[in-house]
Amino acid sequence: MTRTEAVSTIFVPYGQGRGRGLDEMELGAHGVELDRLVSLGLPVVPGLTVPISHAASLVRPDVAGAALSLLQQLAGRRFGDPEHPLLIRLLASTSVSSAGVPADVPGLGITAASASALDRMVGGGAIYDVFAAVIRYVGEHGAGIPGDDFADAEYTSAGPAERAEAFLALSAAAGFPFPPGTADQLARAAEATLSRWASPRARRQRRGQGLPGDLAPALHVQAIRVGPPDRCGHGMAESRDPATGAFAPTGSFRRGVRGTAADDRPGEPLDNLPGGRDLLISALRTLELHLRGAVRVEFEIRDGELALLAARKVERPAPRTAIRLAVDLAEAGVIDDVTAVGSVTASDIETLLHPQLQLTGAETEFARGLPASAGAAVGRIALSSERAVEWSEKGDPVILVAEETTPGDLPGLLAAKAVVTVRGGLAAHAAVVARGLGRPAVCGATSLGIDRAAGTVTSAGRSLAEGELISVDGSSGTIYAGTVHVVPPRPGHHLESLLRRADQVRRLAVRTNADNGRDAALAIQYGAEGVGLCRTEHQFLGDRLPLVRRYLLAADADEEAAALVELATAQQEDFLDLLTATGHRPVTVRLLDAPLHEFLGESAQEANPMLGLRGVRLAVMRTELYPAQARALFNAWVDLAATGVTPQLEVMVPLVAVAGELASAVASIHRAAAEVEASTGVTVPYTVGTMVETPRAALIAGQLAGIAQFLSFGTNDLTQLTYGFSRDDVEAQLLTAYVERELLPVSPFASLDPDGVGELLKTAIAAARRVNPAIKLGICGEHGGDPASIELCERLGLDYVSCSPSRVPGARLAAAHAAVAISSAT
Ligand code: PEP
Ligand code: MG
Repeated sequence: MTRTEAVSTIFVPYGQGRGRGLDEMELGAHGVELDRLVSLGLPVVPGLTVPISHAASLVRPDVAGAALSLLQQLAGRRFGDPEHPLLIRLLASTSVSSAGVPADVPGLGITAASASALDRMVGGGAIYDVFAAVIRYVGEHGAGIPGDDFADAEYTSAGPAERAEAFLALSAAAGFPFPPGTADQLARAAEATLSRWASPRARRQRRGQGLPGDLAPALHVQAIRVGPPDRCGHGMAESRDPATGAFAPTGSFRRGVRGTAADDRPGEPLDNLPGGRDLLISALRTLELHLRGAVRVEFEIRDGELALLAARKVERPAPRTAIRLAVDLAEAGVIDDVTAVGSVTASDIETLLHPQLQLTGAETEFARGLPASAGAAVGRIALSSERAVEWSEKGDPVILVAEETTPGDLPGLLAAKAVVTVRGGLAAHAAVVARGLGRPAVCGATSLGIDRAAGTVTSAGRSLAEGELISVDGSSGTIYAGTVHVVPPRPGHHLESLLRRADQVRRLAVRTNADNGRDAALAIQYGAEGVGLCRTEHQFLGDRLPLVRRYLLAADADEEAAALVELATAQQEDFLDLLTATGHRPVTVRLLDAPLHEFLGESAQEANPMLGLRGVRLAVMRTELYPAQARALFNAWVDLAATGVTPQLEVMVPLVAVAGELASAVASIHRAAAEVEASTGVTVPYTVGTMVETPRAALIAGQLAGIAQFLSFGTNDLTQLTYGFSRDDVEAQLLTAYVERELLPVSPFASLDPDGVGELLKTAIAAARRVNPAIKLGICGEHGGDPASIELCERLGLDYVSCSPSRVPGARLAAAHAAVAISSAT
């Protein structure tokens, strides 16, 4: 056996690793990747791996020479053949994808003598570019010649050829002449690569990634064919079109040799490939099915033939791609529903359902706040609800910018394309209403200073006048000055197909929080299985506000009774609208919970209105209120039932803290039902339940379960009252500081607190089920649309979650994820 043959046994040609029992611990990730391509029958560039345990030996010229001999056999060509030239590419990889991997060495084997002939063949000076890059790489990283010296030489040279010449001279003058022999070049390049790999910076980067600093690499040597630009080139392709998610290979192709990282010539479309296009497309299809994901390949075209240089799964495909791919692979039977559903995130879905800003990096950020309602919009700043209505009626898109909003601002909120508030958090009025309306919102943008008298809004020293354009991104909480292009939502049928698969996987039912027929209809279109919360006080906003004010401020019983008749009449209409949209599904109608300040403003005269005469407490003081609402609801049901549509009515009592409050509300609801039966002759079927939104209600859930047929956790108030955090005041500043200082992992208004509020839920659920095992349990706080909270709801065994219409699709997916997570954990 000759010495060369003995050495050559350490090399592993692409495709032979598995057969030799080697894995990524020896072959590195790239070696395994190329092995896989060969085993799939795909064309790969001729190449070999010097395994991790032998990589250091490649710095020896004899070992490098042996590698080249083997490579010539693999390529079926000789080095130095002027008709069919070959160049050598050297790269490194380790067992895992890691930081601190040196750049590839793109073209070994060029000499001062051969460069001009190669350049004539390839054209454009690219060969000299590669040559210069390699001389510099070897000089700087192998021989320690300062990078600044190369930079100076580059600065004074006129073009690539002169640059290569100057770099050769610089290396020689430094005592490290660049060798002409290919084997010597390869040995020196290996030395440079290993020294870069071992540099303190690369070690630090690896440690920063949680990997050992001294993790060793495998080296890979490839034979690259060089030829005229009409027949040769290189490129990159991805299997999916990011705009549509469809299988439609996209990428770019460059003629000539593979350059350096600095190569920024525009590429040509794949349609221009000089051969190999069909093979590329079928390779991408094969790889997708094999890797079960979108794939990205690097390839070269050599004399019209395709060869793959690298191929991997795209780790974070664009949302539309992730969804379409999951559906395609599931339809092809390559993955099951659980895997398909697991490969898409709720935020992927959110992106498809809402308009998005198309950011270029050139935007001027004006302010930031909390991402209170997803989506994006551009419009003129309106500093009052009236102005928003006035301008929108003229056809101008407006963004309502306010300190905070109250029910009186509903016309402005309806008119505006988006809302921005200085104060308030994710469960504040503006956020809740905007989510209900499907409008983008940024709340708690505390850097904003509004001067309504001057008609300006200021942030960080920059002032914008009312009427100027801003762009709002409610998904990130960012406000930009001026116009940013908005990409409209395009959900598409693949999303629906994916969500139908999620429906097969999930256990939790998903309902919606909807106050009117329009919202309910939208949510049902999005897959809601019913209404989990209709906040009846929201039916009294806008032009109905005077009605509720009149009732709340009534001076005597007569005026109160008259106001109530008007309220009930208006409400019956609204209920009919809601019930019609809901159809045969369940619908939970919550009786009035009107924090007085929201309806009366200054005249509320309560120091703590959120702890004041709210919810069932008002019904205790005004005993005719709930029966009037219940009658309106039952009468609406009777009207609808006459058409054959019979929604499942659930009447819900808010803000209970004392069992007697619930008992008397239930009695008054039954009384109303009896009255409706007496007047219409129809027995209306319904159940009565209560919200659990005070800590005491959670603690006495057993007592409540003896009275109610369902419990719905109002986790907005429950979070507010458990922490003692005002939901309207603390989020923007206090909770942001708490999260920054790691006192809290996340705002408990955004994601349900598992330790405190979650513990209350657990206690309440156990107590309620002890009393009534069949009791229906749900959640209707804003957490009902949050994926992490949905997982907790699944863990706690709730029956359903209810969230704003636009969050319904994400909740369907999150409920499926939760079911899988919990069943695989048990
Ligand atoms: C809650 O408190 O969680 C709830 C749903 O009620 P509201 O947000 O209307 O107070
Ligand atoms: Mg509440």
